[in-house]
Amino acid sequence: MNDEDFFPFPLNLENQFKLSKFANFEELNAVKNHKVSKDGSFTAPVLFLQNVVLFPSTITPLSFNPKSQGIQLVTGAQEQKTTLIGCYEDPAAETGKALSKCLPVGIEFVPSRLNNEDPGAPMALLQGRRRVRILELSETQGLVFARVEPLKEVRSSAKETKALMRLCLKQFGRYLELEDNSQDEILVFAEEAETPGELADFIGSALDLEQEDRLKLLLEADGISRLNLVARLLSAEINLLELEEHIQTQVQSEMDRSQRENYLREQISKMQKEIGDGKSADPEILELQEKLAAAGLPTEARAAADKELARLRSMPTLSPESGMLENYLQWLADLPWNAKTEDNLDINNASAVLDSNHYGLKKAKDRILEFMAVRSLKPTRSHQPILCFVGAPGTGKTSLGRSIATAMARRFARMSLGGVHDEAEIRGHRRTYIGSMPGRILQTMKKVGVVNPLIMLDEIDKLNADFQGDPASALLEVLDSEQNFEFADHYLEVPYDLSKTLFITTANSTQNIPPALLDRMELIEFPGYAAQEKMAIARQFLIPSQMAENGLEGEAIEFTDDALQAIIEGYTYEAGVRSFERQIGTVLRKLALKKTKGQVLPAKIKKEDLPTYLGPVEYFPLVAELKDEIGVATAVAWTESGGEIMPVEVLVMPGKGNLQITGQIGEVMQESAQAALSYLKSKSELFLIPDDFFEDYDFHIHVPEGAIPKDGPSAGITMALALTSAVLGVPVRRELAMTGEITLRGKVLPIGGVREKVLAAQRSGIKTMLLPAKNEKDLEELQANVREAIEFHFVEQMDEVLDYGLVSKPIFSRVMPKQRKRKKTEEED
Ligand code: ADP
Repeated sequence: MNDEDFFPFPLNLENQFKLSKFANFEELNAVKNHKVSKDGSFTAPVLFLQNVVLFPSTITPLSFNPKSQGIQLVTGAQEQKTTLIGCYEDPAAETGKALSKCLPVGIEFVPSRLNNEDPGAPMALLQGRRRVRILELSETQGLVFARVEPLKEVRSSAKETKALMRLCLKQFGRYLELEDNSQDEILVFAEEAETPGELADFIGSALDLEQEDRLKLLLEADGISRLNLVARLLSAEINLLELEEHIQTQVQSEMDRSQRENYLREQISKMQKEIGDGKSADPEILELQEKLAAAGLPTEARAAADKELARLRSMPTLSPESGMLENYLQWLADLPWNAKTEDNLDINNASAVLDSNHYGLKKAKDRILEFMAVRSLKPTRSHQPILCFVGAPGTGKTSLGRSIATAMARRFARMSLGGVHDEAEIRGHRRTYIGSMPGRILQTMKKVGVVNPLIMLDEIDKLNADFQGDPASALLEVLDSEQNFEFADHYLEVPYDLSKTLFITTANSTQNIPPALLDRMELIEFPGYAAQEKMAIARQFLIPSQMAENGLEGEAIEFTDDALQAIIEGYTYEAGVRSFERQIGTVLRKLALKKTKGQVLPAKIKKEDLPTYLGPVEYFPLVAELKDEIGVATAVAWTESGGEIMPVEVLVMPGKGNLQITGQIGEVMQESAQAALSYLKSKSELFLIPDDFFEDYDFHIHVPEGAIPKDGPSAGITMALALTSAVLGVPVRRELAMTGEITLRGKVLPIGGVREKVLAAQRSGIKTMLLPAKNEKDLEELQANVREAIEFHFVEQMDEVLDYGLVSKPIFSRVMPKQRKRKKTEEED
């Protein structure tokens, strides 16, 4: 045999087959037998094999470690043309080449000449000859010898055996087919096997088996059992290959399908191009197309619509993308681009409408009329003010907005900004998001259907900013007339002109309006109503509208003044009229119930009847104190829900001169307290306060209702008064409230929100009020009856505050043991 023909040989089925065929004809025939003893056994040298399992009639290449004994054995056998015995260690036995740890069956084989092409790994071909049972192992001169007995293959003509052989051949054929091995010769060769054992060996060597299974096959001396084993292994292999094939065809067919679809789509679009407008037959698309044509889109939007329409036509109808495209086009078609209502800028009409819907609110109404006058004179003013109505809930902001829309004959919509913290809520999500839509501005535009509605953006002070982008800056783009003619919505992608829309914003307080927005806004204050005004609003508006709402139109029911007054004072606590309206509604609902029961309705609702309709009185006028107290004075604060009276308490106790302020007090108010204390210190001589007094005592200022955060300088004079009262031990007059900032030298500075504060004082039953002299003009905003209900004193200096506030002239009369004693000794001196 010429080794060069075979090296190097990839060990595949084909090569093995060639080799084994060759082996049958030459090497095996040329081999000399060992000397056989009487019992049929013979002795031959042993080569321990590890990773390779030889079968009779097959050839397997094996590479050797150049220093191993195997080289010597192979060379010896080659030269003498004899065989070797391949033995296997029992994998279950412990390691080491103890002779007893050998598997009971081995293989007699013929080695070829060594090929030394790779000196690091010389190779030889090993040709299996026959199975041998290992009877005995012995060692001579370092070589292991085995006495073995050849195992005969038994022929069998039993039907079962034949059937089994035929089945295996059939399966082997299937296996070769699945393996994509077109070597019919291999199958022919297998068919030539005469015994089940031979067939098993041939197929077994051809299969891609685990070493463990190969060894099992070698060890199985009985041919039929061996073929049974092969049949099982074969069918497992076939299963695996079939599964592989199935997966493969699946992948393939998917690829084929998408290729086919692509191809078809291309063909369709080519054909459509040929015909001009292929899918125009689709009625939905036709309708959309017509709608878009009628929508009067501006150039940029028109181009986008055309592009997307073309895409839509070339798409399979049921693809998800076509749904998204249709949706987009629908939005383009539905948004108002040109449709508008005719403005009514007749100022007299507007004035009449506003007056007929709203009591008071003179300032706001005047400003609106001015605004309309400018509009009618100069319709295309580029820089328009952004109006912002600021005031407590229920002060008529939204309803005034609605009336303006009525007066101007514009459509009206409201949009609350409370809790909006994501820019996308204003501007929408990009179309790439699933389920994306335009933002709320464009949604509102679609709802009103014209380009020039009046939109109220409520609660602009409740806008939140967080990681989701800045809604305030998006809103600025909406409101600012220099930017909003090309508002960019993420979904729409093309600019949308908002410049014809009139936006009015509302807020409860200016404090939390994002500064960038506040900067551009023109604030119109809604200051809240005095009790008298509330009663007028009730008579003119709330009662008639609630009567109508509760089906009592035309009934002669009258609320007495006392009753309305009692509802305002006992059942509501607010600057606006929202809960007032609700309580009136409650009374009327109860009457409606009576009416349906056929009972007689009372002609008058009196104060005494209220508990039966509304339950017990809920609020009691928060009079500052019931008697004149030391160290307690009443400030009037301004909050989001209007004004509020706010007692300030001061306690003086032995300590080290510390000032403590509690009750959720903001920084400005803390500084104001410091200033008040410093003022008092500076006056200690005047008030005969001993020098070291401020070092020996601690001062605690507390502003109750600790849960409500408070800030601002306007409680300055109140804190100074309470401190002075506490230190000097002189009580403060009850029924006195005050507001004003204090400077270190005791000057009283003006403050804001006078109207709300006065109204709050009136609500709380305050009889006298101290106001900074510079705020006197603010009282003009108040109705005469409110001004008359309270006695106002205007102050410029803290001395005046003390004069009005303390029940007696400040003299040193504080009961302070330490000081008193000292004073006495001084006197004694
Ligand atoms: P806001 O928007 O300031 O919270 P609304 O406009 O919703 O207040 O007003 C609450 C209710 O009070 C509405 O029914 C409104 O008609 C009524 N109202 C408020 N102020 C007036 C007013 N000056 N004249 C007539 N009704 C008023």
